Amino acid sequence: LEPSHKWRRVLLKVSGEALAGDQTQNIDPKITMSIAREVASVTRLGIEVAIVVGGGNIFRGSSWAGCSGLDRSSADHIGMLATVMNAIFLQATMESIGIPTRVQTAFRMSEVAEPYIRRRAIRHLEKGRVVIFAAGTGNPFFTTDTAAALRCAEKVLLKATNVDGVYDDNPRRNPNACLLDSVSYHDVISRDLSVMDMTAITLCQENDIPVVVFNLGKPGNISKAITGEAVGTLIGG
Ligand code: UDP
Repeated sequence: LEPSHKWRRVLLKVSGEALAGDQTQNIDPKITMSIAREVASVTRLGIEVAIVVGGGNIFRGSSWAGCSGLDRSSADHIGMLATVMNAIFLQATMESIGIPTRVQTAFRMSEVAEPYIRRRAIRHLEKGRVVIFAAGTGNPFFTTDTAAALRCAEKVLLKATNVDGVYDDNPRRNPNACLLDSVSYHDVISRDLSVMDMTAITLCQENDIPVVVFNLGKPGNISKAITGEAVGTLIGG
């Protein structure tokens, strides 16, 4: 990655789990505030920021499907609603420190947020507003990583999560697993490095979207990733 201001417009994916921090509550307001502050600092540099939020801190469809007769589609609809909760929380936090922010949802909830309209989202970004995309792709059986790849603004996906990046093996199973500076899409897929689901990673590969995976919990990381400083792991060709 080249230093400083490499990206004019970025898509930041904030995973739900990272929003929870080590709180017992679903959302840690200290984390949403630190995201807001870091995003504010880069929007001041003129970089346009769009965000896709996950929902795993509140509800993950795949974990609930099958419980008490809950079918997968219904569970995933609940999961997508969870992302809307996170989006509204994040929007309120951003606006409390003066960042104009719009939420767009992949299915209509017009009393709460705008529907997703690509051209309108771009217009908001051009006007210096942050756009938060909620409700994933709007379809069950997908993830918000896939939504992030689909919405990817200017060909870079920055995935803020609760691990430092991509390891060469599962660090929970293998204590000698090493953090990688960079890795190819092919290796992520063939070695099943489980940083994103297959649909999301193959979509990035097919469209040459570089992905930077980094830890949201470390102060400064969001602005580093957005301004193109080396952080976490770069997944690319
Ligand atoms: N979800 C879905 N379709 C999508 C995106 C998300 O059905 O396009 C549902 C799914 O149930 C998922 C939940 O929303 O478990 C939360 O999203 P995700 O797991 O991607 O959040 P994250 O892992 O980023 O916290």
